[in-house]
Amino acid sequence: KREDAHYDDLTALSPELDRELRKLEHMFTVDAAKLKEVSLQFEHELRQGLSRVSRCLLPSLESEGGNLPMLPTWVLGFPSGHECGEYLTIDLGGTKLRICWVTLNEGKGENQSDQEIYHIPKDYKVGTADQLWSFLAESMEDFMTKRHIEPEEGTVIPLGFTFSYPATQEYIDQGVLQTWTKGFDIKGVEGHDVADQLRQALHKRGLPIQIVALINDTVGAMIASAYSDPKTIMGAIFGTGCNASYMENCGSIAKLGGLPENLPMAINCEYGAFDNDRRILPRTPYDKTIDKESPRPGEQTFEKMSAGMYLGEIFRQVLVDLHSRGLLFKNQDPSKLLTPFIIKTGFLANIEDDASPSLTSTHAAFTTLLALSPTAAERLFVRRAAALVATRGARLCTAGVSAICRKKDISAGHVAADPLVYNNARFKARWAQAMAEVFDWDEARDEDPIVMTAAADGSGLGAAVISAMTLERVARGDA
Ligand code: BGC
Ligand code: MG
Repeated sequence: KREDAHYDDLTALSPELDRELRKLEHMFTVDAAKLKEVSLQFEHELRQGLSRVSRCLLPSLESEGGNLPMLPTWVLGFPSGHECGEYLTIDLGGTKLRICWVTLNEGKGENQSDQEIYHIPKDYKVGTADQLWSFLAESMEDFMTKRHIEPEEGTVIPLGFTFSYPATQEYIDQGVLQTWTKGFDIKGVEGHDVADQLRQALHKRGLPIQIVALINDTVGAMIASAYSDPKTIMGAIFGTGCNASYMENCGSIAKLGGLPENLPMAINCEYGAFDNDRRILPRTPYDKTIDKESPRPGEQTFEKMSAGMYLGEIFRQVLVDLHSRGLLFKNQDPSKLLTPFIIKTGFLANIEDDASPSLTSTHAAFTTLLALSPTAAERLFVRRAAALVATRGARLCTAGVSAICRKKDISAGHVAADPLVYNNARFKARWAQAMAEVFDWDEARDEDPIVMTAAADGSGLGAAVISAMTLERVARGDA
C-alpha cells in the first residue's frame, strides 16, 4: 500500500502516470536485501582504503587504491574535555564562509563563541584560487578588526580551518586537495596544499594568524560531539555532501605503518566516493545524467545519489524526462524546469509536508519556482516521486554508517550528524528504519542501539578543540 493512500480519492492517476510511477518505484527502491549487500561492499571498500595507498590524482595509480580515500587526519584520539584557550576558526562550506572566535573553558562551564557568516560570491565557486584565498583572508581581517582580536605581544592567533573537501594530510596543518566536490571547480587548487595557499594569502595581508589544524567537517563534528558525549562513535554529514569519520587504531591502517598499534587516529573516510568503480549501487538513468553533466564525472558516485545537493536535481531529472515524453505539464513552458539545480532539497520536503486536502501548497510551490501549474493528479504524482528520491537517499545514508559499525565491531552508540538533517524528522525516521533493516534489529526492542544525534558545532567548537589538542601535543613535544 502506498504512503499516500488517503489522497487516492483526490483523483486517480491516469493509467500512464500510474505506470510511470510503478517504474519509478522499481528504479528507486533499495530494499533491505540490496541495502545489506551495499553495506557489505562498503565495509570491503573501507578495509581496502585503509590498507592501500590512498587514491591519488594520478589515474594510473587510482585503481590500486580502491574507491575510498580513508584519509588519516592526525587527530589522535578523542578530547579530554579539559581543552582550553582562545581560537579563531573558519569553515569553508558549500556556499558560505563561517568565521568564529571560540573560547574553551577547560570543561568548566559554557564555552563561548562569536560568529559571523560571509557569503561567498557565486562565481567564486568556479573562479580562481587567488580569488578564493584572498576572499578568505579579507573576511578574516574584517572579522578580527570588528572584534578587536589581536595576538598578545610576540604570539600569533591559532586557527582551526575546516575544509569540507577531500585533502590528503601528512601533517595536521597541511592537506593536498585531491578533487573538488559539491560543484566547486576552482582552478589551481587540486593537487596543492590548501593550508599553504591560505597561509600565503594571510601573509600578504600581514595577518598574525597561524594555521594549527586543517580539519574535515566530519572530524570536527565527531570531536565537538565527543567533547561532551562519550557515546559518540562517528561524525557524519548528510548535508550538501555526504561523508563520515571515525576513530581507527593505527595498527589497522596498514598504509601508514611505523606508528604505535593502539594509537587512535581519526579517519576521514571520504565515502562519497564509494562505488566509483560502479559495482553495486543501483544507478538510474537520472543518476547517470547528473554524473555526466557534473564538473567531475565518475567521481563521488555515492554522494551524487544520496546527498542534499543532488536530491532536488534527481527529482528535476525525473520531471524533465516525463515532460519530454508528454506525460507531465502538457503544453506548459518548461524553461524554468530545464534550469539545472533549480530545485533544492527543501522543495522536496515542502511537497512531502503538504497536508492540504488537494495539495494546494504543492501547486503554489510549482507555480512560484517553476511557473508550472500541475493538475491534481500531477500533484499526487510529484509528491510520490519526491518521496521516492528522498527515501532512497536516506536509506543509502545508512550503508556507510552501518559498514563502519561492522568494521569496528560497534553495536551501540551515537552517530553525530549534521544538525540540519537531524532536525528533519522524515529523514531521521527513514534512516532509522533502514538501520534496523540492515542490522536486523529485534522488532520488540525498546530503543535503537545505534542512533543519530545532533552533532555539536563541528567547525566552531570542534575546530577549536582540535587546535587545542594539537597545541597541547606540540607543547608536550610529541607532535
Ligand atoms: C566532501 C567531504 C565532506 C562532505 C560533507 C564531500 O563532498 O568530499 O570532505 O566531508 O562533502 O560536507
Ligand atoms: Mg558544512
